[in-house]
Amino acid sequence: MTMIRSYAALQAGAPLQPFEYEAGELPRDHVEIDVKYCGLCHSDLSMLDNDWGLSQYPFVAGHEIIGTVAAVGAGVQTVRPGQTVGLGWYSQSCMHCDQCMSGDHNLCPTAEGTIVGRHGGFADKVRAHASWVLPLPDGLDPATSGPLFCGGITVFNPIIRNGIAATDRVGVIGIGGLGHMAVKLAHAMGAEVTVISRSNSKKDDAARLGADHYVATEEAGALRAHRNEFDLIINTVSAPLDLDTYLRLLRLDGTMVNVGAPPEPLSLRVFTLFGNRRSFAGSSIGGIRETQEMLDFCAEHGIVPDTELIDGAQVNEAWDRVLASDVRYRFVIDASTI
Ligand code: NAP
Ligand code: ZN
Repeated sequence: MTMIRSYAALQAGAPLQPFEYEAGELPRDHVEIDVKYCGLCHSDLSMLDNDWGLSQYPFVAGHEIIGTVAAVGAGVQTVRPGQTVGLGWYSQSCMHCDQCMSGDHNLCPTAEGTIVGRHGGFADKVRAHASWVLPLPDGLDPATSGPLFCGGITVFNPIIRNGIAATDRVGVIGIGGLGHMAVKLAHAMGAEVTVISRSNSKKDDAARLGADHYVATEEAGALRAHRNEFDLIINTVSAPLDLDTYLRLLRLDGTMVNVGAPPEPLSLRVFTLFGNRRSFAGSSIGGIRETQEMLDFCAEHGIVPDTELIDGAQVNEAWDRVLASDVRYRFVIDASTI
């Protein structure tokens, strides 16, 4: 039996406050992690506000988790106590559906989110099925690697699935937590990368992150100048956009992958897709093996999220700064302060 200390919201939109819960027996195929660091993803904020109708309260956010294995159930063979590991959006999947058997565990119809019907990583401990608890490769810093486990894999997936090569042009819309990692990853793959941001406030950073070009959409005609240009556009924006305007930026057979998750329905004109045989797609996180590949790739290429470390008590103020796009580019909670 384990008492877990955490920060929780007691109702939709309420501030997070200290909250303790009893976790019960550790199931035989589960791992208990001593949380060291946990990133703040925009999805935590959407779940806090119940934007997607999935939230349960008390709600403990946090799904970009780094820690050390505290205990393992009797059936666990993949990780051992003391090992440094990470855990992202999912904590469990069935392991026998078509999607799981194909390695697309993130698309398992019964996959369980770390913060959906479970308590997440803004806590001193968190638990998950062993299959989703991945060892952190040597060379990645535990203090900055948490955001790779949700934001990182979410943007790595469309880059890999669309076969992005050095000859390809990739546009990234929205330079927040996901967007800044998309720029780093696409640049490391050798692609020509264009940042599409609202203003010029991130222009200097964009070059440092690896972008070749910068578009500030608030400037009149800025997007029109890039029509028919991109092989892949990754839309990370958390609010609805005028999709047709952005789809027109795709060249022949180009694809726009929407990873941003606004609660509102989106609309587009099919005629925009007819032109250049364009595609509009969605993507959610990534499979287990793909996540490990992404971690290894980041370790090999020195790809590190840009993070700002905060104490647990600063989390409510940090939410406001995420909403105001005033974070460069991901907050990470130091779990020793919880
Ligand atoms: P974030 O750090 O808040 O970044 C979002 C960026 O979008 C902002 O930095 C801003 O970039 C831009 N933006 C925000 N509001 C906008 C608006 N009204 N109009 C135009 N641009 C706007 O969020 P995040 O953590 O990267 O997450 C991004 C989205 O992905 C969220 O919806 C999140 O829930 C979702 N998500 C999805 C998955 C998945 O599996 N599909 C996984 C993780 C997160 P600029 O200032 O550069 O314009
Ligand atoms: Zn996330």
